[in-house]
Amino acid sequence: MGSEDVRRHGRKLVSRRLPVAEKSLREECGVFAVSGDEAAAELAFLGLYALQHRGQESAGIVSVDNGGNARIHKGMGLVAEAIQAEHIAGLPGHVAIGHARYSTAGESELANAQPALVRYRDGTLALAHNGNLTNAVELRNRLVAEGAIFQSTMDSEVIVHLIARSQLSEPDEQVSEALNQVEGAFSLAILLNDTIYAARDPRGFRPLVLGRRDSAIFVASETCALDLIEAEYIRDIEPGEVLKIKDGKIESLPRLTPTVPAACVFELIYFARPDSNIWGCSVDAARRAFGRQLAREHPADADAVFSVPDSSNSAALGYAEASGLPLELALIRNHYIGRTFIQPLQTDRDFKVRVKYNPVREIIDGKRLVMVDDSLVRGTTSRGLVSMIREAGAKEIHFRISSPPIRFPCFYGIDMPTKEELLASERSVEEIRDYLGVDSIGYLSMEGLIDSVKEYGPFCDACFTGNYPAPLTDLERGHVLSSSCC
Ligand code: AMP
Repeated sequence: MGSEDVRRHGRKLVSRRLPVAEKSLREECGVFAVSGDEAAAELAFLGLYALQHRGQESAGIVSVDNGGNARIHKGMGLVAEAIQAEHIAGLPGHVAIGHARYSTAGESELANAQPALVRYRDGTLALAHNGNLTNAVELRNRLVAEGAIFQSTMDSEVIVHLIARSQLSEPDEQVSEALNQVEGAFSLAILLNDTIYAARDPRGFRPLVLGRRDSAIFVASETCALDLIEAEYIRDIEPGEVLKIKDGKIESLPRLTPTVPAACVFELIYFARPDSNIWGCSVDAARRAFGRQLAREHPADADAVFSVPDSSNSAALGYAEASGLPLELALIRNHYIGRTFIQPLQTDRDFKVRVKYNPVREIIDGKRLVMVDDSLVRGTTSRGLVSMIREAGAKEIHFRISSPPIRFPCFYGIDMPTKEELLASERSVEEIRDYLGVDSIGYLSMEGLIDSVKEYGPFCDACFTGNYPAPLTDLERGHVLSSSCC
């Protein structure tokens, strides 16, 4: 199938509502790797710390020492909860890979934490994966029929088995052969003894960058992780590229089968950190451009603009700049809500929103306000915020969203609910305005979004358009997809 056919086919599949959970797979993650520094585990910890926004469920590090001994530590929770000083001290070595995994619900357990680590005939094999594979169940069923025993429900584990069961003798070939069999989204750090393989799927859905500090080489999901350890950004790992990193040297292996790139535009809208640079694009600059364009497309007669912090701060700045309206800090966010969140005694619908945000009444009272958010998913946060802002005395609320309506689930690694749960999947913009209780609503147009960042594309926009660039093999074959796949 050509790439256009694949896109159309995917859209039809989701619209036909096959008898499977049309659920996105919760595999938002951060990946970090270090080669050639005696403090590899400590650096991996810091890298993961900077990538915390990409995964808050669990974190782990595998290190390899000069004698070739691999050690692992994994834990549940935020990076600093999961990995502590004594754990780092127990991870000696000059090579390490690390992973921070995200999950809001479902199969949240240590067995699904990464990196995955196994010993196979050629030594130690570990893997850290960001993204979701779309043929993992298909491959897993085949591997199980052949006798493979899986230890987790992670889609990523199929890659470990494909490498370990390869009939090829050279590790480079084993890795290439495995990666040529998996479909979907993968930004990977694979450790084979003391060699790191870093790879991105041929569409390059998720970011992955290369860095250097002295003679050490680093691989990271985002540049903000390089900044923290004062490593210099070398370049992005390109779609379909497979790199072999050892002893300060970077070698290119044959590319995976090329296709049209499809970087996830939602990384720029919401997921990546604004101080990162992905695909050559400053995330902050992209968000400001979305905000400016939003102001041009949907102006509002108002007194001030405010953001829903923190993810829409840059977009709100852009809106304020283009509209000439002052930017106010009308909402304050509590940053300290960890996983060990108090079970609320209060069960009312808006409690979760009140725990996270509080209004600054003096700014809001009696004002006509533009509220800027980066995206509208289920609408529960926004609905709670709107009632909070009204109670704080707002005269008018004009809601502006710096992305188009999200109508389709993501199968490539962004946590999104089922099609039915997506606010915009079956509702008109006017119905959404009514549901949220705002005076006016305006979404950034598809053209406005893509035009703002066109030099960094082409992009995957499946959550807005239903045009899925990579085949959805598991969905098509009716395999039941769980929250962490397989
Ligand atoms: P909702 O109440 O579901 O409409 O939530 C929308 C808010 O969630 C927006 O403010 C976004 O910043 C944020 N958001 C968007 N996508 C995600 C995601 N995949 N995971 C967590 N939060 C998200």
